[in-house]
Amino acid sequence: MPSICLGLSYRSLRAQIKLAVWKDINEVDFLDYNWQVANTIQGKDKLARFLYAALPEDIPYDEDAPESLRHIRTRDMFVQDVLGGISLAPMSIRITPHIMSVIDWNKPLSDPVRRQFIPLRSTFVEDHPKLQLDSLNETGTSPTPGLVHRYHDKALFLAVSVCPVYCRFCTRSYSVGGPTEEVSKKSAFPPTRRRWERMFEYIEQTPQLSDIVVSGGDGYYIPPEHLTTITERLLAIPHIRRIQVASKGLAVCPSRILTPEDEWTKALIDASKTAKQMGKSVALHTHFNHPAEMTWVSRLAAQKLYEEGVTVRNQTVLLRGVNDDVKTMKTLIRMLADNNIIPYYVYQGDMVSGVEDLRTPLSTILEIERHIRGSIAGFATPNFVIDLPGGGGKRLAASYETYDRSTGVSTYVVPGSGGSKDKVYEYHDPL
Ligand code: SF4
Repeated sequence: MPSICLGLSYRSLRAQIKLAVWKDINEVDFLDYNWQVANTIQGKDKLARFLYAALPEDIPYDEDAPESLRHIRTRDMFVQDVLGGISLAPMSIRITPHIMSVIDWNKPLSDPVRRQFIPLRSTFVEDHPKLQLDSLNETGTSPTPGLVHRYHDKALFLAVSVCPVYCRFCTRSYSVGGPTEEVSKKSAFPPTRRRWERMFEYIEQTPQLSDIVVSGGDGYYIPPEHLTTITERLLAIPHIRRIQVASKGLAVCPSRILTPEDEWTKALIDASKTAKQMGKSVALHTHFNHPAEMTWVSRLAAQKLYEEGVTVRNQTVLLRGVNDDVKTMKTLIRMLADNNIIPYYVYQGDMVSGVEDLRTPLSTILEIERHIRGSIAGFATPNFVIDLPGGGGKRLAASYETYDRSTGVSTYVVPGSGGSKDKVYEYHDPL
């Protein structure tokens, strides 16, 4: 029997696992990380089976549903639309039972969590002509495979190419997850020691680097012993001062963090403590997009990390129909701050293939920031940023040089360094 620190008890768990498909599962099993992994819904056939078990036969009228989905009245129509959406999607399907239990299956057409993980054919919008699969040109700024070096003092260490869930809007859809009908994922990053070794060597020989983001894929899928190896190896490099382990686990499978014997959580906490003793830092960068994702399990897990001294920061992606209104975004930011998760960034959606229905115009992030800045304590207010297509890096969204709202084209100037000229990058609103 797995053990777990439940603290606040099971009182709301029943509501969370009321789905018919798991009605016979007891709470402790549901919360067990191994059970979550073993029962993760992967691939279109398993998803279709799940949907037939979870959805009502007739889809209830949903006043919040987008116009393009209002014709879907039955479970059969919904499942067929999902299968059509999957055939056009750049990301394969993988969703934890935890996340499946957060979705409101009586409102599948508008549910903000469903929108992030399960595509529907009827909402598909043609890609913008300026859009590229590797939107941020990560492969073009990698001195060795899996290490992205775009900023002067910071690099991205892509340790794995798998995640506990696959988000439809993933920036790294060119490499993360299994191949889809649309994307072959030839450039995936397997967790091989030889590849990592070349990445360590580059970091050791590049003294300007002080910050390393350990990501992938998702840091949750770095085996615990490898997480320890990577953090120890990086902390031992004198010029590396800060490490950020990127994982959506706190949002999508948080019960793992509450399991006392879980080795991954222990590796993270130990690395954080070791770093502090060295005057350095190892933090967790996580990814909540909607208040519904802040379940009681995530709150308890965040509290445990807080008590253990692990700094947790959040990076939200602005998504149409998910969090693109002031009220939702403000609620999310307050919830994060109240759970000692630093609201670090809100990102303008990247120009990623296959998810134009989720992208908002730049004006939306500007408007949301206008309402939020000043209404929440400064230290709990995130930076509203845009990661410039083509590898220009992050800029404050409001720092555009030009923005023509009629054409939807904005420009940002990135100052040159080391004698190179300033460079202009463009962002294009959805058409
Ligand atoms: S968890 Fe992160 S890396 Fe994985 S699919 Fe989602 S956005 Fe991409």
